[in-house]
Amino acid sequence: MRQVLDGQAALITGSTSGIGLAIAQAFVAAGARVMLNGFGKPEDIAAAQASTGGAPYHPADMSKPAEIRDMVRAAEAAFGKLDILVNNAGIQFVSPVQDFPAEKWDAIIAINMSSNFHAIAAALPGMLARDYGRIINVASAHGLVASPYKTAYVAAKHGVVGLTKSVALEIAQANVTCNAICPGFVRTPLAEAQVHPLAEKFGVSDEVALKDHLLAKQPSKRWIEVDEVARMALWLVGPGSGGVNGSALSIDGGWLAA
Ligand code: NAD
Repeated sequence: MRQVLDGQAALITGSTSGIGLAIAQAFVAAGARVMLNGFGKPEDIAAAQASTGGAPYHPADMSKPAEIRDMVRAAEAAFGKLDILVNNAGIQFVSPVQDFPAEKWDAIIAINMSSNFHAIAAALPGMLARDYGRIINVASAHGLVASPYKTAYVAAKHGVVGLTKSVALEIAQANVTCNAICPGFVRTPLAEAQVHPLAEKFGVSDEVALKDHLLAKQPSKRWIEVDEVARMALWLVGPGSGGVNGSALSIDGGWLAA
C-alpha cells in the first residue's frame, strides 16, 4: 500500500529523544527515509535507530554552525536529496535574568534558534532547485508568549517564529513551505525535568507542582503527548498542506486562547 511519505527524505534534529524521536518514528511509519541527530548514550542512539528502521545518524552539535551544515550535506548525500527538514533540537534553562549564566544564554540562542538558520540556509538551495521542500521549526508556546525566568528560551523561540515567517516570505512562490509548531508542555525529559524543582520551590508534591505550577497556563491541565505533536508534523509535510506557509501552529491545550 502506498504511504503518504513514500520516497521522501527527511532530516530531523534532536531526534534521539522526545518530540524529535516521535516525529522521526511517525515519518518512517509513513514511508519516509529519515536521518537522526542528537545527543545520547550509544545504546540510546542505537535504540532510536532501531525504532526508525535503522535510520542513519549524524552527531552534529547544534551549537556548531560548521557541523550543522555538514549534517545537511550528509543527509543530501545519503538520500540523494532532502525533502523535509525539521529543526527540533532544543535545551532549557530557568533562572532570574540577573543571575542567568551568560554561557547558558549563548547556548540556548545557538541551539534553539541559530541552528535553525544554519540548517535552513544549507537545505534551501537543494529544495528550491527541485522545487519541493517542507521545513518545520519546532518553536514553542514560548515563541508566542512569555513566562518569567525563561528569558533565553523565550527570546530564542520568538526568534524562531520570526525566522519562520521571514523564510516563508522568501520562498512563498516556490513549492517549499516553512512553518513553526508551537507546543505547550509536552511529556518529554526536557519538560518533566521542570516539575521537581517547582515542587521543591513551593513545598508541594510533584503532582501538585505539575498541575498548579507547571501547567498553570495550560488550560487542559494535561501533558501534550509527543505522538500528538508528531501527527501535526506529519500533516504539515503530507499532501494538501502546501497552502500553509509562515504559520505558527499552536498545540498547547488552549494556552494561547487565554
Ligand atoms: P528532549 O530533551 O526530549 O529532546 C531534545 C533533543 O535535542 C535530544 O535529542 C537532544 O539530544 C537534542 N539536543 C540537545 N542539544 C543538542 C545539541 N547541542 N546538538 C544536537 N542535538 C541536541 O526535549 P523535547 O521536549 O523533545 O524538545 C524538543 C523541542 O521541542 C525543543 O526545541 C523544545 O524547545 C521544544 N518544545 C518542547 C516542549 C515540551 O514541553 N517538551 C514544549 C514546547 C517546545
